[in-house]
Amino acid sequence: CGIVGAVSTRNIVPVLVQGLQRLEYRGYDSCGVAVYDQGLRRARSTSRVAELLTQVHREAIEGTTGIAHTRWATHGAPAVHNAHPHFSHGPGTAAADRAGRVALVHNGIIENHDELRASLKAKGYHFASQTDTEVICHLVDSLYEGDLFEAVKSAVKRLHGAYAIAVFCKDEPLRVVGARAGSPLILGVGKEGGENFLASDAMALAGVTDQIVYLEEGDVVDMQLGKYWVEDRSHKPVTRAVKTVQAHS
Ligand code: GLU
Repeated sequence: CGIVGAVSTRNIVPVLVQGLQRLEYRGYDSCGVAVYDQGLRRARSTSRVAELLTQVHREAIEGTTGIAHTRWATHGAPAVHNAHPHFSHGPGTAAADRAGRVALVHNGIIENHDELRASLKAKGYHFASQTDTEVICHLVDSLYEGDLFEAVKSAVKRLHGAYAIAVFCKDEPLRVVGARAGSPLILGVGKEGGENFLASDAMALAGVTDQIVYLEEGDVVDMQLGKYWVEDRSHKPVTRAVKTVQAHS
């Protein structure tokens, strides 16, 4: 339903949660946020975004890189374990490292989730939810060889259906990768400190930045501090115009 993501140098959790609040009017059944703080950390709730904020404060969840989501369930009941962000860690990961390696949020529906789930289960991946989304998260993890952008590009080639995704990996904490096909995703160029944002709608970033790049169908974006890189569906680097959008509150 709604996506917000960021790479920054300040604690970005308040901006991520405020972004979710700006998307609340669209409706949702659960919400969540994940950040990098030494490792992956997250808070998820089947209540309002305001409750998520309380949880984030209570658990002192802070980080400069993160992703957040409001979910409108299509596969899997509205429940905390089905709420995004989903985490993945490779099969055979030591118990101490099972907090997760890849974190992912998704809008849309993956049609071939059953087939992908079966092949990931055969590789030893454990599924903690009934969502189609968790399949994408494990798929990215299974293709990860030290470069998240490459892993996401390979993963989306195997997806049938509609998606906007935002992904990050604990091994590359200053990077969030996004991709879209059939669901909207925009990039917001930050005003200070090289920070950059992803969102399903520019409205989520109102008051944060009005410099918006509208990603096109099939685009994959590599977002880092002070820079970003967009490739189209054929992996050709492309320049998408930065537009100044009217700030609305
Ligand atoms: N299909 C995904 C799910 O059910 C994403 C739904 C959405 O767009 O919020 O978890």
